[in-house]
Amino acid sequence: MKKFAAFAIVITACCSIISAQTQARIVFPFPLSQVTLLASPFKDAMDRTCSYLLWLDKNRMLYTFRANYGLSTQGATTVGGWEAPAHGLRGHTMGHILTGLAQAYLLTGDNRYKAKADSIVTELRTCQNAATSRGWNTGYLSAWTEPKVDSLLAGTGLCPWAPLYCMHKTFAGMLDCYNLLGNSTALTVATAMGNWIYTRLSPYSQAQREAFWNNMCWNAGEYGGFNEACANLYAITGTTNHINAAKLFDHSRLFTPCLNNQDQLSGLHANTQVPKIVGSLRIFENTGEINYYTIANNFWNQVITAHTYVNGGNSIGEYFRAPNAIAGQLGDNTCETCNIYNMLKLTRLLFFHDPQPKYMDYFERALYNQILASQNPSAPHGHSTYFQPLRAGGIKTYGSDVDSFRCCDGTALENHTKYTESIYFYSGDTLYVNLFIPSQLTWTAKSITVRMETRYPNSDSVRLTITGSGYMPVKIRVPYWLRRTMEVRINGSLQPRINTSGTYVKYNTTWSGSGTIELLMPQSLRFERTPDNTNVGGTLFGTQLLTGRYGTNNLSSLPTLNASTVTKVVDTQLSFTATANPTTTGLIPYYRMHGERYSVYWTLTNVPSDTFITATVPISAVSLSVPQVSEVKFLKSKIRLTVTGGFFKNQPMEMQLFSLNGVRIAQVKGLLRAGEQQASFILPKTLVSKKVYVCSITFSNQAFRRLLLYK
Ligand SMILES: [Zn+2]
Repeated sequence: MKKFAAFAIVITACCSIISAQTQARIVFPFPLSQVTLLASPFKDAMDRTCSYLLWLDKNRMLYTFRANYGLSTQGATTVGGWEAPAHGLRGHTMGHILTGLAQAYLLTGDNRYKAKADSIVTELRTCQNAATSRGWNTGYLSAWTEPKVDSLLAGTGLCPWAPLYCMHKTFAGMLDCYNLLGNSTALTVATAMGNWIYTRLSPYSQAQREAFWNNMCWNAGEYGGFNEACANLYAITGTTNHINAAKLFDHSRLFTPCLNNQDQLSGLHANTQVPKIVGSLRIFENTGEINYYTIANNFWNQVITAHTYVNGGNSIGEYFRAPNAIAGQLGDNTCETCNIYNMLKLTRLLFFHDPQPKYMDYFERALYNQILASQNPSAPHGHSTYFQPLRAGGIKTYGSDVDSFRCCDGTALENHTKYTESIYFYSGDTLYVNLFIPSQLTWTAKSITVRMETRYPNSDSVRLTITGSGYMPVKIRVPYWLRRTMEVRINGSLQPRINTSGTYVKYNTTWSGSGTIELLMPQSLRFERTPDNTNVGGTLFGTQLLTGRYGTNNLSSLPTLNASTVTKVVDTQLSFTATANPTTTGLIPYYRMHGERYSVYWTLTNVPSDTFITATVPISAVSLSVPQVSEVKFLKSKIRLTVTGGFFKNQPMEMQLFSLNGVRIAQVKGLLRAGEQQASFILPKTLVSKKVYVCSITFSNQAFRRLLLYK
């Protein structure tokens, strides 16, 4: 009880000084309809999922809903897997179908997706309207009877698994059908669901609700993103009860340690927590209550720095383990795919408020190495992984047409129909180029078209063709993995070379009719050690995780990879060979690894010193709340740190400089004075020009690390 009260007090105290205004974003996404995918593995994946969305029989998927309300099932046969009529997660897929259809319509313009979504909305509204005839509360919409929710809240009877999780999916799908398709019935349904949840939860005290989220049968507290959906509904309706409903899901066991930046994630069910945090951020966006932002920001940093595998995934057996337990936690049931569906949602929302490249660096890593990697390219309908095995000798397995419907099969319907969502963003007149995926943006407000053509990651070159006129500065992401100079040519003219990775470079450009931006981003080989065993690590080329091909060989232990032998093969697609145990092994990007056993992690030997990144900087991780670091820069004889915001008191700081193989070269004290936004550290004279160093700056119990090239 004490910890619940503590959280409430902190929130209240903070809110008294924060304006209760909707928090404006700094950066914005383009509507899905303004970006199209060009030929690429992403387009192929989208096409497979789109064909599945059209193929799937809506009447079979409506069966459990209609049966629940005593309505005719119209002769439809049931489906299997987690959507079978007696299964504990039935009804969850329908919301994902709605979202997938709405997204597919915007991506393709094909009216069949919209028509199917609209018809499902109508059918589900009919079910919802029948709730009272069953003796249930107005607005109740589920493939479960409402008494199941009663037993959930009472903690009695058989564990009903996760009815709130399932309902949230329908709720979110309805909001997407309103927001993306303009379906007003969908908003009616969603509003009724929002009113229903407020009616059901508000009579309980905060302590009682906390007990629901803590103590109900094993994962019945898994309510998905119900809080996010309520906040999203509030953003449309402005109805106070809807934002209050979002807050009814506050969960101190998770939120309070996150607020205090204490990593207490160990032992928590991972995919239960990530959506709650997305909801926390949406509450912040709608209320301005800064604690909800801090919770989300700290959670992201904790997960990324201490719970994330080399492919960007997290969890083993669906649970978070002790911080930095990576090499010791490799199994067949690592990296549940849903977790990263939710982590990417969180990542881009944080970026909208704090557009640091670290977010898009992570986004790119996880997009290739977990999400694109999750789809079976051999299946016409492109079914998804659930777990992604990271043990040596693991192999991916996938869902099926009508006998699977696991949670990750559901989120997959959304994953593969929104690959365009984060390639480009904008802020005012400025275009952000975040990801290097073949695509075309039509920025209708500026009457400018941007076409991106590239074979990346099979090539280092990216070409953007701009058609249209006007002032449009372009901010291009310089990826964290860049180890050699990046070249940028604008209209054929070579710009000053870029030597700093993990940043955005901005070009203030006025376009007249047409123009080009050409990028050359040399990808290179690198190894990332695990924090709990520095002999173990992953092999990467740029953002691509390279995995060893082992065919049918079910390995019993990690292979030993002679890192100095990893050699790129001349091929149209990325491919490598290396000596491991001690035969020659092929390595290919993890997203292309399907249908055979593989090794992601290795015992590494003979690692060339200039390719070995110290374990603590897997993804240029930053763990700061306010103020934010905006720049760390090598000057001639010092390193300069710039922050936005500022401290009220002088902050002692410490800078440490490491070589890439982890040897500390310098340890220098510094001070960020109250109210100032820059601090400097004098460099030792032993630095070697043209060499990359790891700079680690610690202050206010936070650490900031970045790779820097000394000119
Ligand atoms: Zn899942």
